[in-house]
Amino acid sequence: MTTAPPATRSLVDAHGRTIRYLRISVTDRCDLRCRYCMAETMTFLPRSQVLSLEEIAVIAERFIERGVDKIRLSGGEPLVRRDVTELVRRLGSHVGRGLQELTMTTNGTRLRDHAPALVDAGMRRINVSMDTLDPDTFRFITRHGDVATVIDGILAARDAGLAVKINMVALKGLNEDHIAPMLAWCVDNGLDLSLIETMPLGAIDEDRTDRFLPLTGVFDRLSTRFELVRDGHRSGGPARYWRVGSSVTRLGLISPLTANFCDGCNRVRLTTEGKLYMCLGHDDQVDLKAALREGGLAAVDAAIDIGLAEKPAAHDFRIGAGEGPAVARHMSVTGG
Ligand code: SAM
Ligand code: SF4
Repeated sequence: MTTAPPATRSLVDAHGRTIRYLRISVTDRCDLRCRYCMAETMTFLPRSQVLSLEEIAVIAERFIERGVDKIRLSGGEPLVRRDVTELVRRLGSHVGRGLQELTMTTNGTRLRDHAPALVDAGMRRINVSMDTLDPDTFRFITRHGDVATVIDGILAARDAGLAVKINMVALKGLNEDHIAPMLAWCVDNGLDLSLIETMPLGAIDEDRTDRFLPLTGVFDRLSTRFELVRDGHRSGGPARYWRVGSSVTRLGLISPLTANFCDGCNRVRLTTEGKLYMCLGHDDQVDLKAALREGGLAAVDAAIDIGLAEKPAAHDFRIGAGEGPAVARHMSVTGG
């Protein structure tokens, strides 16, 4: 590897947006098969094409040197990758020294075992995806998951000191009646809840149009049951937030389809095979694995700069009859 020049250039795109947030998909594999995310039979990347944990760490550290102060590990299911806690530990050593936050999105199936290591490594908050509390509906949505294991993992994580936010994808005719009970459960257990509109990413076995549930109507129904007070918190993403009465619970609505959020976008995404995507909804990417392997960090810097110059102004997601996926790759490849 050649010696890299000092990382003096900060990450500003052609639209004047400063990139401070890197999402990393540490594996495209998963132990669940959520219907809106994956087909039942998925082909995963051969291991030879996947970045090693060392390569992920080296690239992530370059982003930290260039001004990224928040990193989220995602997937696929990040906790199914062997030795992922080694990566967490290494990146965690930068928390408070360049990195403000290291966090993770997980399906929670292995959380009970991993929570103490995540806390030890400097993680303070995580997102756990759970689309219903009902065991049968959960099994149906995930095609075989056990919600009791996920709930157990969530409570173990909370008790280990992690602030937990539940991610719930709103699915018409599947879990729309489970949203109010989920919010009540989050209030009772001191957790946050983010509701997500299903996004047209990757081919699945069904038509997403059938399941698309706009969050505007969901919010109106929730407001008849809960006192929802607008909260100014912003994450540089598509979420808008409300505080639930006097509780600690914050409700977030992630509505990429019904509310555009791209003006304030502060993030880029690194896939399992080392491609850097500038936008979840576009195919523009640069290959950081090839850059690192062929030219070291100087080449990684150059590739990042090329990517940034091309970061699109906005996604162009559409959901409707006859609309296919906006991009062919699944959320599990890009890291949700
Ligand atoms: N396996 C982990 C999990 O489920 O939390 C992390 C990866 S998953 C791809 C990240 C998030 O993306 C989850 O909250 C999941 O519900 C969400 N997701 C996956 N496919 C989606 C889609 N097509 N539209 C909206 N959200 C999606
Ligand atoms: Fe796996 Fe997460 Fe996709 Fe569900 S949403 S299939 S848990 S990667």
